[in-house]
Amino acid sequence: MAKYVYDFIEGNKDMKDLLGGKGANLAEMTNMGLPVPHGFTITTEACLAYLVDGGFPDGLAQEVETHLQHLEQAMGKRLGDQDDPLLVSVRSGAKFSMPGMMDTVLNLGLNEESLEGLARQSEGDRRFAHDAYRRFIQMFGKIVMGVPGDAFEEALDHAKERKFAGAQDTDLDVEDLRRLVGEFLAIYHDHTGSDFPTDPREQLRLSIEAVFKSWNGKRARDYRRQNKISDDLGTAVNVVAMVFGNRGADSGTGVAFTRDPATGEKVPYGDYLENAQGEDVVAGIRNTVRLADLAKLDPVSYGELVQVMGTLEHHYRDMCDIEFTIQQGRLWILQTRIGKRTAFAEWVMAFDMLEEGLIDEDTALLRVDANRLEELFKRMVKPEGATPIAKGLNASPGAASGKVVFSADEAEARAKAGERVVLVRRETTPDDYHGMIAAQGILTSAGGTNSHAAVVARGEGIPAVCGADAIKIDLGSHSFSANGTKVVEGDVVTIDGFTGNVYVGELPLEDSVLEKARSGDGVAREARIWKAFTRLMAHADTRRRMRVRANADTPEQSQNARERGAEGIGLCRTEHMFLGQERVAAVQQMIFAETTEEERAAYDILLPLQRNDFIGIFRAMSGLPVTVRLLDPPLHEFLPNQVDLAVEVAVAESRGESGPDLEEKRRILRKVNELHEANPMLGLRGVRLGIVKPGLYAMQVRAIVEAACAVKKEGGDPQVEIMIPLVATKPELQQMREELEPVAREILEREGVHLDHLEWGTMIELPRAAVTAGEIAEVADFFSFGTNDLTQTAFGFSRDDIGKFVAMYEERKLVPANPFVTVDRPGVGRLMRIASDEGRAANASLHLGICGEHGGDPASVVFCHEVGLDYVSCSPFRVETARLAAGQAVVGSAESASK
Ligand code: ADP
Ligand code: MG
Ligand code: MG
Repeated sequence: MAKYVYDFIEGNKDMKDLLGGKGANLAEMTNMGLPVPHGFTITTEACLAYLVDGGFPDGLAQEVETHLQHLEQAMGKRLGDQDDPLLVSVRSGAKFSMPGMMDTVLNLGLNEESLEGLARQSEGDRRFAHDAYRRFIQMFGKIVMGVPGDAFEEALDHAKERKFAGAQDTDLDVEDLRRLVGEFLAIYHDHTGSDFPTDPREQLRLSIEAVFKSWNGKRARDYRRQNKISDDLGTAVNVVAMVFGNRGADSGTGVAFTRDPATGEKVPYGDYLENAQGEDVVAGIRNTVRLADLAKLDPVSYGELVQVMGTLEHHYRDMCDIEFTIQQGRLWILQTRIGKRTAFAEWVMAFDMLEEGLIDEDTALLRVDANRLEELFKRMVKPEGATPIAKGLNASPGAASGKVVFSADEAEARAKAGERVVLVRRETTPDDYHGMIAAQGILTSAGGTNSHAAVVARGEGIPAVCGADAIKIDLGSHSFSANGTKVVEGDVVTIDGFTGNVYVGELPLEDSVLEKARSGDGVAREARIWKAFTRLMAHADTRRRMRVRANADTPEQSQNARERGAEGIGLCRTEHMFLGQERVAAVQQMIFAETTEEERAAYDILLPLQRNDFIGIFRAMSGLPVTVRLLDPPLHEFLPNQVDLAVEVAVAESRGESGPDLEEKRRILRKVNELHEANPMLGLRGVRLGIVKPGLYAMQVRAIVEAACAVKKEGGDPQVEIMIPLVATKPELQQMREELEPVAREILEREGVHLDHLEWGTMIELPRAAVTAGEIAEVADFFSFGTNDLTQTAFGFSRDDIGKFVAMYEERKLVPANPFVTVDRPGVGRLMRIASDEGRAANASLHLGICGEHGGDPASVVFCHEVGLDYVSCSPFRVETARLAAGQAVVGSAESASK
């Protein structure tokens, strides 16, 4: 039969699945010989069995009784005893620390008789005993039986008023408390319809059941949904002998961190509250003092605590956070776990612990969170006494100031004119994208951390504050107001994406932590973070198997990416090379061409322009591979908007206008209508464009190869990979190669240049391509997973249109995570695996990479490592993140393999 109850001495820290985090660590500390009160843990399995059966599973009641008797023996006290009663706390504790689980009930075991025993036991301190009793009735009533807490609070307030105006809890004497207990018992009866259970064993049983049930409470379920924690873990229940921090000035309770969780510095950090029980700290009844002050109040206990901290750190080899209580000069440890810390502190701690010899380099590497690395590169606000006018969610880190604008078009226009703007919207939609990326920062008054604004901002590395609901936008008057302050378009605001604060005016911004360190501007702290960063990044680089490339479309972006450690370009998009006045005219000429001559004339204009673009990029990336994608978007994107144009023509016609201008507009409109597609995403784009307009891709190949020749001749080392997008069938790629390779060959012969690295490949971004990758690989030198489109086509989701429901999808766990942020392993990931495996089987020299935005997402990088890709390619500002994650992927898998 299953064992449902473990004494603390029987467990250890690796039993979190069964004993929950709190129970496993209490067991570990007990076995380490630390001063932990005796107790036992009821397992998560018991909880799950209870939830299925609706009652205690067979044997549980008996096991609890046996362990309770052990506890009574160990303590030399008995539950409910009228001379010297044992009191216990009942504490929930799941595998992961989880708000929403049942709160702790303290002082369990009290009733009219044991109350007297407690008083006697505590040197006749009857006041203490009565206070403990009224707290117990209150906690049990509220937490276990769901009696509204206000009912008790009101009675307590009355009791204080009765005493004298302004009286505190501590002013109530035994008689007051006795009366209050009577009132509390009446409240309990009123709300539950039954008497307060006087039998301590019944009190215990009811409490245990309440903890079990709290696993399925609404708050707990919501939290699990939000944090992607499985519903079938269950919670454990810890029953712990009470110790009292409210036994006078030589008693108290507190929390402590073995190092400063904000800075990472190696100094004990925490809070202490004299003469108090745990729940007083949370309730904020009195102000706590800094942990350091305990050294003066009680040097002996402080010394002991510091020693315990050292022992714990050494044992867990990490920063621990601790809950402790001092009862009349005696220290008790009530909880420990690995402490949470800031993005800065984690680097400092990992580095320091490495230097101290506490952990090795691989462990240090795993201690830093690749998801938060970007924070080290972000500027920060120096508030200097300024008060925020509003506060929202810290949706994307970094600080930004700029002039307020309310539309994406305005943002784009002003940014083009060299102004710095902050885009303020209620919420954003995909139509705002062009303005979002032109803005310094984004501020929304609605929407959460998974809103469109937040997701795009994080993806693009733009600081953002979302859901600042104090901000009321009035588009009519181009202004917003927030808590009485009015801000009109063009006024400057500053947003702090680290804190969610919004300020009026331009606040001074500090350089990022790493920038300060690099320029020697930083103080010791920045210098330490910089040392940590360089050392651990170097280690990630030696450990990683995958290369890291960047997605870059211009020489400047390429240069930037290279400085950040990019080892090539995984995606150079050529769309922007078709923009700009002169170019758009030529592109339109190409679209309208009726003869081959007209078409060729258009290419003749575009060719030299593109060649120059490529020369710049090949120079910046000399010696490293550059994957150039031939034109992908549908042609109508280079023409005016259909609706706008139709309206213009209709207006002109209704005014009876005529002339060549109108004629020209009519001509363009005819073409626009002709090119109009119901589903442009699934229309004439990618390789289909190359097939329908063969001269287009030939022109691009010519520009690429001529540029490579030019760079080679000046002594550079261009490494060229030509990528044909949106291929679904092998013949598509095969025929394209047959058309385009001779173009390249001809130029190389003419120029007398040999390129060491000239490859032809495709993006795998359609499910059909993935499942027929074995065939396609026969005619490809490389594959690059275009996971943005692959996700769209695998799910049948349009990325631009799912903004309205993706948050709900995530919340209801209809998708494991936003699939446009993290690769959907079971679906899209499986397609990638099939394509990798079958592609490699068909063509042993095939090389593989990813160029979708997932290439900069740490969890997706780990997946790419597992699939065996040769590289990931991401935005330049994510290069460090990808390097780190790629290193961690190797170390993490080595670690799990050795376990
Ligand atoms: P949480 O998970 O919310 O921290 P805990 O079970 O740790 O809940 O307990 C809440 C408070 O009660 C903490 O301050 C804790 O130290 C205190 N506490 C729990 N058990 C005992 C006990 N046996 N004796 C004294 N204080 C306790
Ligand atoms: Mg706790
Ligand atoms: Mg694509």
